[in-house]
Amino acid sequence: MTLITPSSPMSTPTHGGRAKCLQRLVRLDLPVPRTVALSFDTVHQLAGGYRPDVSELLTEFDPDTLLCVRPSSEDPDWGGPGAFLNIGMNDARHKALCARIGDVAATEIYLRFIMNYAVDVARLDAEVFDEIDGASPAALAKALVLYEEEAEEPFPQDPAVQLAEILRSMARAWEGTTARLLRQAKGAPVDAGLGLVVQEMALGLGSGECGSGVLQLVNPSTGLPQVTGRYLSQSQGREALDGGAASIFLEKDPRGPSLEELAPEAFAALKEHAALMRARLREEMQIEFTIENGKLHILDGVRVERSARAALRIVVRLAEDGIITRQEAVMRIEPRALSELLHRQVAAKARRDVLGSGIAASPGAATGRIVFSSEAAQASAARGDPCVLVRRETSPEDIRGMHAASAVLTERGGMTSHAAVIGRGLGLPCVVGAANMRFQVKRRSLVATDGRVLKEGDEITIDGTNGQVLAGSVEMIEATLDDTFRTFMSWADAERDIGVRANADTPADAKTALHFRAQGIGLCRTEHMFFEAERLTPMREMIFAHDPKDRQAALELVLPMQRADFLELFQIMQGQPVCIRLFDPPLHEFLPTSRAGQRELAEALDIPVSDVTRRIESLSEYNPMLGMRGVRLGISVPEIYDMQARAIFEATVEAAKEGITVVPEIMVPLVSAKREVELVRTRVEAVASAVRTENDVDFSYRLGVMVETPRACLRAGDIAEHTHFLSFGTNDLTQMTYGLSRDDAGRFMSEYVRQGVFSEDPFHILDTEGVGELLRLGVVRGRATRPNVVLSICGEHAAHTESIAFCREAGFDYVSCSPFRVPVARLAAAQLAL
Ligand code: PEP
Ligand code: MG
Repeated sequence: MTLITPSSPMSTPTHGGRAKCLQRLVRLDLPVPRTVALSFDTVHQLAGGYRPDVSELLTEFDPDTLLCVRPSSEDPDWGGPGAFLNIGMNDARHKALCARIGDVAATEIYLRFIMNYAVDVARLDAEVFDEIDGASPAALAKALVLYEEEAEEPFPQDPAVQLAEILRSMARAWEGTTARLLRQAKGAPVDAGLGLVVQEMALGLGSGECGSGVLQLVNPSTGLPQVTGRYLSQSQGREALDGGAASIFLEKDPRGPSLEELAPEAFAALKEHAALMRARLREEMQIEFTIENGKLHILDGVRVERSARAALRIVVRLAEDGIITRQEAVMRIEPRALSELLHRQVAAKARRDVLGSGIAASPGAATGRIVFSSEAAQASAARGDPCVLVRRETSPEDIRGMHAASAVLTERGGMTSHAAVIGRGLGLPCVVGAANMRFQVKRRSLVATDGRVLKEGDEITIDGTNGQVLAGSVEMIEATLDDTFRTFMSWADAERDIGVRANADTPADAKTALHFRAQGIGLCRTEHMFFEAERLTPMREMIFAHDPKDRQAALELVLPMQRADFLELFQIMQGQPVCIRLFDPPLHEFLPTSRAGQRELAEALDIPVSDVTRRIESLSEYNPMLGMRGVRLGISVPEIYDMQARAIFEATVEAAKEGITVVPEIMVPLVSAKREVELVRTRVEAVASAVRTENDVDFSYRLGVMVETPRACLRAGDIAEHTHFLSFGTNDLTQMTYGLSRDDAGRFMSEYVRQGVFSEDPFHILDTEGVGELLRLGVVRGRATRPNVVLSICGEHAAHTESIAFCREAGFDYVSCSPFRVPVARLAAAQLAL
């Protein structure tokens, strides 16, 4: 037990954050009531049955005052038992207090204390006191009798007994299983300790201006400077925060006069104290205070609760005011919290009527009317009516619908399914794998977990940040990308030592990437450029072509489109590197599944529908994700890669004419053998030579390999012979390492995580043990052959702190992630470098 003085030995790991903070306030010479701190060790012993000599502790305090006890854990977010006020109330004190603050107030305090003690310490049922009504002498006498009957002993009159029992019950409450599990869920270690602080009470009741309240210098939702708080005359503890009767500062309030009017000197002193605390505690603090007959007491200081947006502004202002360093500001913001700023979000205080839930695949929230098809989504968008596209799963055919929708909900899929990847790319809120709801797409209804049936046109809200599907519309907060954000991110970039690029497939993606200061495009999935209606058909014609001649004809249609695509990307990226991946479409994604789609294709190709269906059958594969994809398609049908290489080189020549120097990066997907790279390289080089000759200009380019099969990792030594760069595609690599379909994993993933089979969804958080071992092998073997080979990761894992930490350690040059996650990755990388 240690009296808190400026020099007493006190630290957060031994006595908890509250005790340490109170000592800081004492050192600042603020009017803090006398306080004694109990260490984690002492509290642990108390829980184990140790009986402290409380009389010694009591000698530290004026025998006429009441005491309070408050918890002091290492991190205030870990919770703890509630504060216990007015310890020491007994018959004699009650009598003395009646004379001082009046009968009713004194009796109220005593009654409240008896009841709290009965429930929290003697463990009686709260209902025992149901018949107590009002604060009369008769009610008090009754309460004492009821206590004695139930507890089978009189209510303790000795303050030492009261205090000893209260300390022990608070210690035990902390070590109980429920409390332990709750705090572990918030990140507390199993053996997290609790300290307790015993403080003299400033009553807040009595003659003259008396009361209690809180004050802070910032607005908790914007982070802008603003004195805010609550004050309630004749109150104690946090009563002023219970609403209703509270009166705020400054403005006139219908609930009563403000503190500024009631006690202007105390108000001025409070503001000064708060400013001092901000400067010296290097944090925006909320002051808890009590006023006793006009005299101010500072009971506590707690970190101001804040929204993500306020948190950013607070750290930037603290650094700009020279209170903390820029580096410290960078370290104080959780990278994940940035997503909240980049998207609209459900307001923290909004009421949530949950219909179901799934995997939170793309952050942000949006409200709209349910539509079950892409066509309906487009029609809805055309009417200016926001809609939510609800599908069992999405395919390239849905891309137009996704563009038109405000949010997407699917029954199937995981973090790397089509809907999830596209959703993140578009910055569209998306929940996938909501298997606890029933998707009756043909009947145009969606059945909630609790059986409620929703029809097309009903309004729902998708919360892609936490994976919930909510009924109706809910209150939202807007995205904010202001100067504060930009300033903060520039400070982060100054520390970062690994590059961050974006995965961008379209001009819109590239613009977002540039807006978020990506250092180039790390992955352009070229097949995604063909999801637009007018492009899908020539693409399908090419896939459907029987012979090279027909294919050539279709490719001639595609070539100018691709050339224009690449030129636009080069123009947008203004000379920053652009890495273009050659076609990697699992063919099934491009085959029309609906009868209408097949008819449309038959018309376009001028052939009977039966021919189309037959061809679809002949192209269909048992396992398309492991079938004719990537380089396998490139080698079997070389004209496709020839066309793409030509489009890239011709766009490079065009860009040069506009003064934009581009060294395009060409990436070969799904490689598993060195020979594949040799074959592609020879043809790409031939195309480059032809374009150089035709245009009579020179240009250079880089050829690289996407390492996304286990064999490519194992044989990275051979493969690196022919490549400038190796980009690890951890989506496919995870799929193939686990032998687990990335599109179907959502069905059982939550069960697997719940039962601890996987600690996390490996499509979400990089499996550094298994997949990571393959990555490490790939890096070591690739670098052994070619020491300056550029290494990167472009799977969906790339924005996570864990993956970035792994990549820094393994010596990667950059990570590439969805454009909207670029700021998150930039901050995570900066923090790792600090
Ligand atoms: C990957 O496999 O990690 C990757 C980035 O490619 P895709 O997701 O397009 O298969
Ligand atoms: Mg892949």
